[in-house]
Formats: sequence, structure tokens, C-alpha cells
Amino acid sequence: MKLVFFGAPGAGKGTLAKVVMKELNIPQISTGDLFRQAIKDKTPLGQQVSDILAKGELVPDSLTISIVKERVEQADCKNGYILDGFPRTIIQAEEWEKVAPIDTAIYFDVTDDVVRRRLGSRRVCGNCGAIYNIISLKPKVEGVCDKCGKAQLIIRDDDQEEAINHRLEVYHAQTKPLLEFYDRIKKMVSINANHEVDSMFAEFKKVVK
Ligand code: AMP
Repeated sequence: MKLVFFGAPGAGKGTLAKVVMKELNIPQISTGDLFRQAIKDKTPLGQQVSDILAKGELVPDSLTISIVKERVEQADCKNGYILDGFPRTIIQAEEWEKVAPIDTAIYFDVTDDVVRRRLGSRRVCGNCGAIYNIISLKPKVEGVCDKCGKAQLIIRDDDQEEAINHRLEVYHAQTKPLLEFYDRIKKMVSINANHEVDSMFAEFKKVVK
């Protein structure tokens, strides 16, 4: 099954994707994670996109599409995948329908206030990338990662208040139009993403057969 998860940053796409990938046994492909890994590894791609990510801008469409094309050619994608955070523009969505038409696009419907609250309280481990939330998903010991034990829980550059506001603006201008696109080609379902992951998963199971 080929799924697209789209919606505002902080809507819970990555969190639900981790649950769904286990259930359906297909990988989650997060373009944000692919870019962040490239930045961490200081690859040429990482150097190219690092400023763009820090500012909350979008990476150019052609570059993003080629990264995803390369990723879906790997063996673990043969039974499908969850595209998390891609497509993010109409151009990406149109192009992807030519490359590998998706089955269903799941729209994560969430208010800007919930997004601001969630992203403002998100922390990531600077060492292993594990994700926490100082309100809803605290580490066992404050400031210390449960998974790798390093005291390196940080706020991502693009989770700083100014970048969050900018990412929301970019989302409303560039990504929200995907609603109409996927609706028009009859591939769109929506779930209420103001709730926690358990109820999102219950709703997911009802709308994606
Ligand atoms: P995310 O973790 O999905 O919020 O993505 C983090 C950042 O990666 C975004 O703010 C963009 O700079 C970049 N990015 C991720 N996915 C895309 C995409 N599909 N198109 C362009 N830029 C992207």
C-alpha cells in the first residue's frame, strides 16, 4: 500500500507513521528525516539544504523528488510505503502521481494553535534523534534521552518560535492546496489530528481499508 501523510508540521504525521508502519509492515519515508540525516552526516546534499531547513523554507521540488525516487527503489519499499511530509507542493504531488501513483492521501486536520503548542514543547536527542515532548512524552530523567542515555535533548532550529510561524505560513500557502488536489483525484481521506496518537490510529483504521 502506498500512503501519503500530509498536514501541518507538528500534526503528528511522524508519530502515527511509526504505529502504522508496524501494523502494515511497510517503511515510513520522511523527507524531513532524510534531509536532517544528510545534514548530520555533512554530505553534499546536507550542505545544500541545511540553511533551507533552519529557516523553515522548502527544499526545491526537483531535488526533493529525486531523493524520494532514490529511496523508494530500495528493497524494503517493494510492498509499499508511507510518505511522511512528501509531497508538500502541488508540483511534487502531480509529479509523484506520474512516478508511482499513491493509493490514499491522509490529511491530518489540526489547528494552528495545537501545532504551536506541540512544536514548542518538542525536544529531540541531538545524539540519536529520538523525539520527546516536555508535556506529553517526557523522558524518564529530565533532559536525558531514554534510548541512548545522552543528556543532549535540544530544541530543533526549526522548532524555534519564529521558524514555527514561518513553517505554518509555508504550509498554508504551499501544502494545504494538496487537499483540493487529492480530493479531485478521489484519493483523499482526513483524520482529526488534534487528538493523541491512539485515537488518530483508531480513526486511521476506519478510513483506510
Ligand atoms: P519535517 O520534518 O517534515 O517538518 O521537514 C523538515 C524540513 O525539511 C521542512 O521544513 C523543509 O525544509 C524540508 N522538507 C521536508 N519535506 C519536504 C518536501 N516534501 N519538500 C520540500 N522540503 C521539504
